Amino acid sequence: MLNVALFGPPGAGKGTQSEFLLKKYNLSYISTGDLLRKEMASKTKLGLEAQNIIAAGGLVSDEIIVQLIEKTITENTGSNGFLFDGFPRTYIQAYILEGLMLKLHTSLNCLISLAVSEEESMQRLMKRGMNSGRSDDNEEVIRNRLREYNQKTLPVLQFYRDKGIYVEVDGTAGIDEVHQRISEIIRNELSKSLFNVVLFGYPGSGRGSQGKALAGKFGLEYVATGPMLDKEIKQGTEIGKRIMALYENGQLVPDEIVVQLIERKLADSKGVKGYIFKGFPRTLVQSYILDGLLKKHGSSISTIIEIEVPTLELIRRLDERSKTAGCMPYDNSTSKIVKRLHEHETKTVPVIAKYKQLHGVSKIDGMGTFEEVFACISAVIEDGFKNMR
Ligand code: AMP
Repeated sequence: MLNVALFGPPGAGKGTQSEFLLKKYNLSYISTGDLLRKEMASKTKLGLEAQNIIAAGGLVSDEIIVQLIEKTITENTGSNGFLFDGFPRTYIQAYILEGLMLKLHTSLNCLISLAVSEEESMQRLMKRGMNSGRSDDNEEVIRNRLREYNQKTLPVLQFYRDKGIYVEVDGTAGIDEVHQRISEIIRNELSKSLFNVVLFGYPGSGRGSQGKALAGKFGLEYVATGPMLDKEIKQGTEIGKRIMALYENGQLVPDEIVVQLIERKLADSKGVKGYIFKGFPRTLVQSYILDGLLKKHGSSISTIIEIEVPTLELIRRLDERSKTAGCMPYDNSTSKIVKRLHEHETKTVPVIAKYKQLHGVSKIDGMGTFEEVFACISAVIEDGFKNMR
């Protein structure tokens, strides 16, 4: 998620800059000014309460603002992120924003302040007033708005300076120049966010070897639940002992154990660019778990890839593997192989179908050589990186 607040006195150019940011980054726009004008136009209770204050150039109460923002945020929880314009405008609202972001398991990436002098701001608003149709764009009200800004809004900057996420841009430069400067800041922020790949494919499709190699190439952490479970058994940990007992009784490893292992892996791998998930999510329940786990880290799935290989070829590959030293305990008999293919068919294929609807899934022909398949998947990941950055 990318969450940015545009800050500056009235007339600094927040609205103009918001327009291009929204198009470029597909964010949900929250302009408290626009929301208030909508409420006033529809003559709602909130709108009527705010009307006189806005007309006089004062600031609407934090109570009204919190209701407006909460409504908009909860209507857009699946969003790529939020762009705030005209909020937070008071020190209290800065705390409110902290709380709202926490509720979404995310945080504000940065507050970009468009610095414009009071005189410049005054001139711009007087000019805008000639055709904006806004009754609050006249000299007396503008003076009041600027006074409110100096008294109540400027202290907000210190809040973000203290947090270390305050960035200032010269708002008197040309529109294009300001636009470029903001884009640079956002690119920098995006380069810090995680890029997460989910790699699907039937057993024998090559997802394991491809996943490992892709993780190395792109600086991503490889998260494969199968080997993670194996490691616990080999190390004889508490979880390993529980898994062994389950294996011996022929039971599946419950989600609660898998979640613990993945949670630990995500917490331990600091400084990675993102993750490649293989063998997880395997069921619809696990797909919800993955969304939740990533959200906890302020992140989400970036790209989903499915390696396709015809069934006969899968059986040929798995049968061949069963005769090698690297054979997995779950691949050493035909009945186990058939069971695994069947499990994938009944439990995981519906997960892929869900993702197809929600995010889109890139299909890769898995019949080429390792290098050919690797090149195709790499191209999809590179594309994903480009779209994100
Ligand atoms: P704007 O369109 O952002 O210039 O906002 C127009 C007017 O709406 C302001 O002068 C305030 O009266 C009111 N307003 C907008 N956002 C807020 C906010 N976050 N807190 C209090 N009042 C606001």
